[in-house]
Amino acid sequence: MPQRNNIYFFYKKEPELTSRVDKLIEAARNINYNVVEDASEANIICSIGGDGTFLQAVRKTGFRDDCLYAGISALDRLSFYCDFKLDDISSIINAMDNEEVEVRRYPTIEVTIDDHASFLCLNECSVRSGIIKTFVMDVYIDDFHFETFRGDGMLVSTPTGSTAYNKSVDGAIVDPLLSCMQVSEIASLNNNHYRTLGSSFLLSGDRRLTLKVVQDGNDYPTIGIDNEALSIRHIHDLHIRLSDRKIKTIKLKDNSFWHKVQRTFL
Ligand code: NAD
Repeated sequence: MPQRNNIYFFYKKEPELTSRVDKLIEAARNINYNVVEDASEANIICSIGGDGTFLQAVRKTGFRDDCLYAGISALDRLSFYCDFKLDDISSIINAMDNEEVEVRRYPTIEVTIDDHASFLCLNECSVRSGIIKTFVMDVYIDDFHFETFRGDGMLVSTPTGSTAYNKSVDGAIVDPLLSCMQVSEIASLNNNHYRTLGSSFLLSGDRRLTLKVVQDGNDYPTIGIDNEALSIRHIHDLHIRLSDRKIKTIKLKDNSFWHKVQRTFL
């Protein structure tokens, strides 16, 4: 892989993990990979840890679409974004050296808050009440007022995020080959006065979702973008759409998204 030989390792610099990563760095150098200290110089960014570390690796390196990301699990098991195990260095090196890998592309969503700050998400954006009080939002699909939500909050997930928080609130699992986003409720209030759809729904990549936070005093929700909370306090509108940016990840040939779903949940 001569054109892809600048590699950056993203991991928590803890002593125990660092000594294990050092072995991988040495093995990568032995097959002529150039290990770089600056992620912007890398063609391959390797996250070492768990799914949360992978989400951070993508976020902290700017959701690059001109490089490949690889997830290496520091535990003894694979996970959704980690296709390799740190303790199985020979198969990582073998896969890299013999190009036994394929590239898959994961859709991301873009969240714009009050028409200025924009953020990308690989798993989901969640909007939840910051206090113990029902939280109200008007939900628009494009310019159409679809419903008024009352409850704990809502989350909008990507296809790869569909197996994460979204699954815990009974959302559907979505094949990442489908470019779409899923909108799911978190504990909606449904009775003779208040009504929401009550189920998750998928929006095509051409649609835009707008959540207008009703300014009734409970208008400083907790906004989560993957595993980070935003520090923006007072919010009016969130616009969410599928981004043009796709994250390219390296996978082993016999390890599709549906293999992961089976090995994790069945
Ligand atoms: P982490 O690595 O500790 O992840 C927590 C758990 O979520 C792990 O078991 C991980 O494997 C799993 N996970 C993360 N992304 C996944 C995905 N796309 N598909 C399947 N499983 C996935 O790191 P973290 O920082 O705690 O992870 C952040 C994620 O945790 C958030 O993006 C959100 O999706 C999820 N989350 C879930 C709930 C819930 O299920 N009630 C609540 C908050 C956050």
